[in-house]
Amino acid sequence: MTTTAQFYQDMERRCAELKAAGLYKQERPIITAQGSVITTADKAAVINLCANNYLGLSSHPAVIAAAHEALDARGYGLSSVRFICGTQDIHKELEARLSRFLGTEDTILYSSAFDANGGLFETLFAAEDAIISDSLNHASIIDGVRLSKAKRYRYKNNDMKDLRQQLEVAREAGARHIIVFTDGVFSMDGTLARLPEVRALCDEFGALLGVDDSHATGFMGRSGRGTHEHYDMMGKVDIITGTLGKALGGASGGFTSAKASVVALLRQRSRPYLFSNSLASPIVGTTLKVLDLLEADTALRDTLMENTQFFRAGLEKLGFDIKPGEHPIIPVMVYDAVKSQDLANRLLQLGVYVTGFYYPVVPQGEARVRVQLNAGHSREQLEKALQAFATAGRELELVS
Ligand SMILES: *Cc1c(COP(=O)(O)O)cnc(C)c1O
Repeated sequence: MTTTAQFYQDMERRCAELKAAGLYKQERPIITAQGSVITTADKAAVINLCANNYLGLSSHPAVIAAAHEALDARGYGLSSVRFICGTQDIHKELEARLSRFLGTEDTILYSSAFDANGGLFETLFAAEDAIISDSLNHASIIDGVRLSKAKRYRYKNNDMKDLRQQLEVAREAGARHIIVFTDGVFSMDGTLARLPEVRALCDEFGALLGVDDSHATGFMGRSGRGTHEHYDMMGKVDIITGTLGKALGGASGGFTSAKASVVALLRQRSRPYLFSNSLASPIVGTTLKVLDLLEADTALRDTLMENTQFFRAGLEKLGFDIKPGEHPIIPVMVYDAVKSQDLANRLLQLGVYVTGFYYPVVPQGEARVRVQLNAGHSREQLEKALQAFATAGRELELVS
């Protein structure tokens, strides 16, 4: 047994180790609202290409007005969990509206998508069951699956041969229920799960399909319903989890959307729902307004997709090596970890805010700068950002 002083020394040593390995994350305080242009504590008016603010709603005037309205009408918070005295009319309304938007039977709100995933698997699946998870799935899915007693299997990212193999193994092990669970969009690559093929395999094996659509709800698909709409698969995903913290306004909150019986059981037994506070009223009221905006027309998601095409084409024309696709996440491949940081730092000097990612966030030797577009970016801002990429890319000999 150690002394408490030794415990604190241990904490300091571990932080020092992270710093020595270059893995210690520094936060960069922003002193403006979130937006396509932000001011950080050390740099004014930088073009922001690294928020999940896909539809530019984080500080959209209509969204801010809706938040004020909800705050005035329903107060700040509920000081209760949902089943005691923490359910307002607007919570029920939002659950119904999200179900309609996603094309599902019912929806249950959580404080975050992390909680939605954290409270999903343990509640629905027991030791007799099997969960088959894509290897690139988000940390909250991995943690949620860990909490369940079900047998766990993992398949290589988007690898249908491996998925079939895992389904066979699960079936041979005598699994009762089987669910295949995947991110709709993989956040480091901006690639989409191969949902039609995953669905076909699920059908062949009698398995359920679950999708965490956090990087898609609000903008992927013709009317922004998500990856399932993109693939013309509305109604063909058994369980959808997602966040209110990205495209849908960016405050916080998450949800699970599924058949009524699934949602009913989650309300009875899902621990982050039963033992954590209700989603704050201003967020609930504001998300209703966001859904009004998205259902009225598709202007925001259309602008986002135009910006994405423009920027992808611009980077390609400059000679950058980007992962192909159509999602507003654009990985600019640099491969070398140090160079990824050099590129991000130089771009910041030039007034463009991006983040460089390297091992262990992405595989060894696959360091990259991740660009994320949003609907609030003007053409002028994007042209300026491309010029900065050209300058920094030539200096670092990434392009000629
Ligand atoms: C961002 C993200 C989450 C976490 O969402 P929060 O609501 O912030 O907890 C969960 N899953 C995926 C796939 C995400 O991209």
